[in-house]
Amino acid sequence: MEQPIQKIEEHKLKIIEIIDEALNVKTFRLQMAENVKISFFPGQFFMVRFEDAPKMQRAYSIASSPEKNHLDITMNLVGEFTNRLFKANVGDYLIFKGPYGKFYFNEQIKNDITLIGGGLGITPLMSLIRYCNDKKLPNSLNLIYSVKTSQDIIYYNEIKKIKGQNKNFNYAITITRPNAEDKWDGMTGRINLELLKQNTKNIEKSLYYICGPLDFVKSMIAMLESLNVKKGQIKTDIWG
Ligand SMILES: Cc1cc2nc3c(=O)[nH]c(=O)nc-3n(C[C@H](O)[C@H](O)[C@H](O)COP(=O)(O)OP(=O)(O)OC[C@H]3O[C@@H](n4cnc5c(N)ncnc54)[C@H](O)[C@@H]3O)c2cc1C
Repeated sequence: MEQPIQKIEEHKLKIIEIIDEALNVKTFRLQMAENVKISFFPGQFFMVRFEDAPKMQRAYSIASSPEKNHLDITMNLVGEFTNRLFKANVGDYLIFKGPYGKFYFNEQIKNDITLIGGGLGITPLMSLIRYCNDKKLPNSLNLIYSVKTSQDIIYYNEIKKIKGQNKNFNYAITITRPNAEDKWDGMTGRINLELLKQNTKNIEKSLYYICGPLDFVKSMIAMLESLNVKKGQIKTDIWG
């Protein structure tokens, strides 16, 4: 399917909320001006910068649904940009430029959808889940989400809530490095073929959205190919 043409625009946006999601993981919520519609498809990203540091810009996937009048970006504390942003306050401004990216979903896509996220790679997938839920789309949505410990699961309450509301949505979460403090009684270990097969509706026809570190994405593609999934059904977003 050909990608629709989108206008790349710059917006100066105010931080209206800062949400602690997990240890060293925060969501920054940006307000859209009342009469300005910032269009993007779920899964896409924007280049984000501070007004006084034009050269220090980073890519962030939008985690919120395009149906909302705010933009959410969620990140962990890593280096230069995130250290500065973690010191920002509600009321500060950021410059967003975009949207960018071929890793997206829109309403023209009628397939069943399998979302596979490693760690913070859940962020663009969450936009998709929120959007399909907001719009009550009929696509079956299956999330397979892997994190190191149960403390690293972000958006968990909302994921559970959406599952309760939406019969088209299912999820499986697995943790790969349970520690002594973990009270987790769910699945453990890496995503494997069995988990993929159990949590995918219509394996050969589903569309797959995979986001996470390079090795994670590569190993998911290899598993899908062993299940006869064609390259054209797999969309990937790799950050590192
Ligand atoms: C399309 C796209 C979408 C992205 N979306 C998100 C998002 O939604 N949330 C998000 O948190 N990040 C996202 N990123 C990554 C983001 O752009 C930054 O690279 C990240 O936030 C680190 O920036 P920094 O300036 O804090 O660290 P830097 O100062 O740039 O890096 C510090 C050091 O940490 C290493 N490093 C960079 N990122 C990571 C990482 N994630 N884990 C471990 N080591 C790392 C670098 O190699 C470097 O050595 C996305 C990247 C791309 C390309």
